[in-house]
Amino acid sequence: MTKILVIAEHNGAALNPSTAKCVACAAQIDGAAIDIAVLGASVAEVAAQAAQINGVSRVLTIEREENDPAVAAILAPQIVAMADGYSHVFGPSTAFGKDLMPRVAALLGVNQISDIMSVDGSHSFKRPVYAGNAIVSVEAPQDSVVVATVRTASYQAAEGGNSAPVESAAIDATIPSHTRFVELKTGSSDRPDLQAAAKVVSGGRALGSEENFGLIYDLADQLGAAVGSSRAAVDAGYVPPETQVGQTGQIIAPDLYIAIGISGAIQHITGIKDAGTIVAINKDEEAPIFEVADIGLVGDLFTVVPELTKALG
Ligand SMILES: Cc1cc2nc3c(=O)[nH]c(=O)nc-3n(C[C@H](O)[C@H](O)[C@H](O)COP(=O)(O)OP(=O)(O)OC[C@H]3O[C@@H](n4cnc5c(N)ncnc54)[C@H](O)[C@@H]3O)c2cc1C
Repeated sequence: MTKILVIAEHNGAALNPSTAKCVACAAQIDGAAIDIAVLGASVAEVAAQAAQINGVSRVLTIEREENDPAVAAILAPQIVAMADGYSHVFGPSTAFGKDLMPRVAALLGVNQISDIMSVDGSHSFKRPVYAGNAIVSVEAPQDSVVVATVRTASYQAAEGGNSAPVESAAIDATIPSHTRFVELKTGSSDRPDLQAAAKVVSGGRALGSEENFGLIYDLADQLGAAVGSSRAAVDAGYVPPETQVGQTGQIIAPDLYIAIGISGAIQHITGIKDAGTIVAINKDEEAPIFEVADIGLVGDLFTVVPELTKALG
């Protein structure tokens, strides 16, 4: 029987939409029974949100002080202890899942399947390679547990309306002492989350400075959009790394993506392949970004963007 354990991503109060996307992927496997594991210090609220996701049979919780904030080395052995009896363990292909799931796979002695973008069967999947320029079919062995990350940009979140039972999981796991949480340093922002935003405005190297990036923030504010960037803009110090979109940044699938002063390198494009409408503003009409853009505007961003922001205001 196919039994899938989906590892919930959350911040202690709210479930990340990546979890419902993993459930949508798991639900593509015929006859799968899907449970969600919620690990944290106090997870009643998050577990209640997980229980609402359609297709979920049970929500299993583990509450320990060490689980908040989530540290992969601490969570992994607990997930391994929970995984007994499951044929699959799925996590999201986000920073959280990319950190955690390889540890789970290693402790279970299996290879991880990364970035599932579609399901061909219980043990066969498709995933992108070469920055999304090729898609390979991967076959996992039938006789061992499948540990995988799900490419969240490939899935719509499973809908709500369910009321699955929530149970506390009794596990016996040794928590390692070699790794512990020390401190979290993160920028605080009231802006929409890049992963979940319906609209994203991104800026590239052409902005030229941190100060000039204000043009991107102003336009994003008018649109209620999240702010993204190219790696060149991050490397130049114009914006923090968590804004980077692309192969080594975030893979996103907003309804609207506006790329400003971004050339459209394949490593950037791989992060926006699943975006609904792509708008590009670039002064070079030969820029590769125009090959993937639905709407292209050839012009100087320092003229076009303030005008656009003003027109929307
Ligand atoms: C292993 C690897 C992983 C990578 N991962 C990523 C990744 O995750 N994300 C990512 O983005 N990149 C990534 N890169 C880098 C990528 O190859 C490019 O170097 C980068 O995306 C370029 O950023 P950019 O488009 O901002 O800069 P550029 O390539 O310098 O492009 C700037 C663009 O702005 C335009 N422009 C200049 N002035 C103006 C103006 N005044 N008005 C309008 N347009 C103007 C130019 O015509 C040009 O097209 C990766 C590279 C490698 C090797």
